[in-house]
Amino acid sequence: MNNYETEAIVIGSANFGDADKIVTLFTANQGKVRASAFGARRPKSPLAAPLQMFHIVEADLSEGYSLDTLKRASIKKRYKKFGEDLETFAYGMFAAEILCEIFGEKQAEPEVYELAIKIFDCFEKRNPRITAVAAAWQLLFKAGFSLSTDACPICENKINANKTEYAVSVKEGGFLCDYHTDVTDGIKISAGAKKLIEDFLRLDFENPSISVRGSYLIEVEKVLLSFLQNILGYNPKSLKFIREL
Ligand SMILES: [Zn+2]
Repeated sequence: MNNYETEAIVIGSANFGDADKIVTLFTANQGKVRASAFGARRPKSPLAAPLQMFHIVEADLSEGYSLDTLKRASIKKRYKKFGEDLETFAYGMFAAEILCEIFGEKQAEPEVYELAIKIFDCFEKRNPRITAVAAAWQLLFKAGFSLSTDACPICENKINANKTEYAVSVKEGGFLCDYHTDVTDGIKISAGAKKLIEDFLRLDFENPSISVRGSYLIEVEKVLLSFLQNILGYNPKSLKFIREL
């Protein structure tokens, strides 16, 4: 079995056995990796502290048949706000779930890794809800899921840029032209909310400057959740947590 070292973010964790964990790591070199961490739930285990959600770690792994094995991990960066603020933690879980669900295992995604670090850095200092929604749009785009905003996905006609209200279909994959606004899953969306999706896709997480009107954000979230439902086939599990806040 080959051993390898990589920097990684802890994006998922589940208990198994008496004292073990299966962790999901998003790694710099190999994309998403699932690994067994034997004994990680024992308080004195050297793996216990590093394997908390959202920690950035330096990890030593060995390749396995279905799961790799995490042999050693040390904390490279620890975010404070996820531990102090429940809302930030809940929205961070949403971003982590999207990372977990839309990228395949062992597919090197160095650009996505860089983006993920910028996203989790942004949670330290910015509004978690806005960070999470913008993160979702950009991660979906990186994974090849996008909604066309300039051409109708059915007929490729250009979308009229001067309307105040649009219809968008997550099944067809974009904003609809005037002939096709009546598809069954079309969601009505204001011009302001359409622009907000475009702003989220362009947002620089290192230097975020964006003004977000609450009513537009609610519209954008509705489209996002419908889009995610269509891609995943279910509603993100982290939503339940967010709704309980
Ligand atoms: Zn059309």
